Order: sequence, then structure tokens, then C-alpha cells
Amino acid sequence: MIAVGQAKDELLGPWKRASILIGAAVFLIAATFALFARKLIGQFIIRDRLDQKLRAYSQDLRRDNLGLQQLAHTDTLTRLANRRRFDEVLAQELARAARGNNPLALILLDVDFFKKFNDHYGHPAGDACLQEVGRMLARQVNRNGDLAARYGGEEFAIILPHTDLAGATAVAERIRAEIMALRLPHRESPLGMVSASLGVAALVAPTDARDLVARADRQLYEAKRRGRNRVCGDGCAPSASGGQAAQ
Ligand code: GH3
Ligand code: MG
Ligand code: MG
Repeated sequence: MIAVGQAKDELLGPWKRASILIGAAVFLIAATFALFARKLIGQFIIRDRLDQKLRAYSQDLRRDNLGLQQLAHTDTLTRLANRRRFDEVLAQELARAARGNNPLALILLDVDFFKKFNDHYGHPAGDACLQEVGRMLARQVNRNGDLAARYGGEEFAIILPHTDLAGATAVAERIRAEIMALRLPHRESPLGMVSASLGVAALVAPTDARDLVARADRQLYEAKRRGRNRVCGDGCAPSASGGQAAQ
């Protein structure tokens, strides 16, 4: 009697080989997945860092832009709004006043005998004087919506929305008195100190910025003509409390 059978190794051989093959394949797939997952996480981290950097850059950019905008709107000597800003705000306020049928007032201020001041004390002292006037204007013109600007040279402009001639003349008179109160010496002025002349114009729902400026300018000229250190308003007599004539 002959017993014929397969050896254990022979029997399990194919199964073992298949198991090793499947195991290797599973390991390969798992390793590939792990590799991809690592790469993906790496990409996420990089993207997150880039995102943070981008956010920081755009914040810096926004801040720089605001700074530049501020710079473009500011007069370097007096730190008041410059002529460009004045033109922008006047156009905006004109449109607003026209829409609401409201009055809009404009004051033009010109420092008296300023050429003589420069000639006597020198240009740097003239600059310091303009800075002093600018600081005073910044203190005095502080109602929401009002704007004090350096119009050019020794001339300043003040926009007063929702203000009629009487109100604007009162503000101008207060400013004139404040300049006198600074008591800045000016030996070449008959008053012995720095003064300014102011022209006021106020219109209800004005439509033309040039017209408002021209009216205020005419009143400024009138204040100069009448002796300086005074306020003149469009259509009104020189303010009763106006300063003494310079000569
Ligand atoms: P009035 O009383 O009629 O206004 O006479 P004024 O001398 O003030 O006017 P004028 O227009 O004859 O002279 C203005 C002077 O202002 C001349 C100019 O050199 C001076 N000025 C303009 N801008 C500046 C500035 O930024 N700094 C200095 N220091 N002086 C300036
Ligand atoms: Mg002038
Ligand atoms: Mg002047």
C-alpha cells in the first residue's frame, strides 16, 4: 500500500507566495498613500504660511496706501489739508449742499504784510509763523465736516458746511481775534504784530465752486482795501467787532 500526499511546503507554497505578494502590494499602496498624505500636509502648511504672509503684505500695503493718501492730502509745512484736498472737499460739499438745499460757507484768510515779515525776519521765521497760524486754525476749526486748508503761500481757506453768512462771519471773526491773540511780533506791520484779513462768502445750494471762491476772494480784497486785520462778508458790512485798520 502506497500513500501518496503533498508535502506541507508544497501545499502552502502558492498560498505563501500569494500572501507575500498581496502584503507587498498593500504595503506599497499604504506607503504611497502615506507619501501623498505627507506631501499634501506639507502643501497645506506652505499654503497656510503663504496665506499669512499675503495677509500681512496686504495689511502693510493698505497702511502704506493710507499713509500715501494722507501725504497726498497734507500740506508739508502746516500739516493742514493741502490745496488738492481743499478742491476735493469743496466739490463734495458743493454737491451735498445742492442736494440738501443747504447753505455752504467759505472763508479765505490772508496773512497781512507777510512779504515784509519775510524780508525783516527771514524765510525760516516766515515758515514758523505760517505753522503757528496753521496750528491755531487746526484748533479753531474742529466741527465735524469743517475743513481748514492751506490754500497757497500765506493764504488759508476754511470750508464750513451747513453754515450761513452770519455763522461763518462769526467763525472768521473768532479766527481773526485768535491770530491777534498769538501776539506774533511783526515790526513791519503798523500793528506791531502779525494779523490777517478774512473774506467770507456763503451761498444756499451753490453750484459753482469757482463762484464761491471768487466771492470770498472779493471780500478778502475788500478787507485788505479797508485796512487789513478785519473780516468782510459777501453782502454784509465789515464785521462790527473787526480789528482796527492797520494804518
Ligand atoms: P498783504 O497784506 O496785501 O497780503 O501783503 P503780503 O505781503 O502779505 O502779500 P504778498 O502777496 O505781497 O506777499 C506774500 C508773501 O508770502 C510773499 C511770499 O514770499 C510769502 N510766502 C508765500 N509762501 C510762503 C512760505 O511757504 N513760507 C514763507 N516764509 N513765505 C511765504
Ligand atoms: Mg496773499
Ligand atoms: Mg498777505
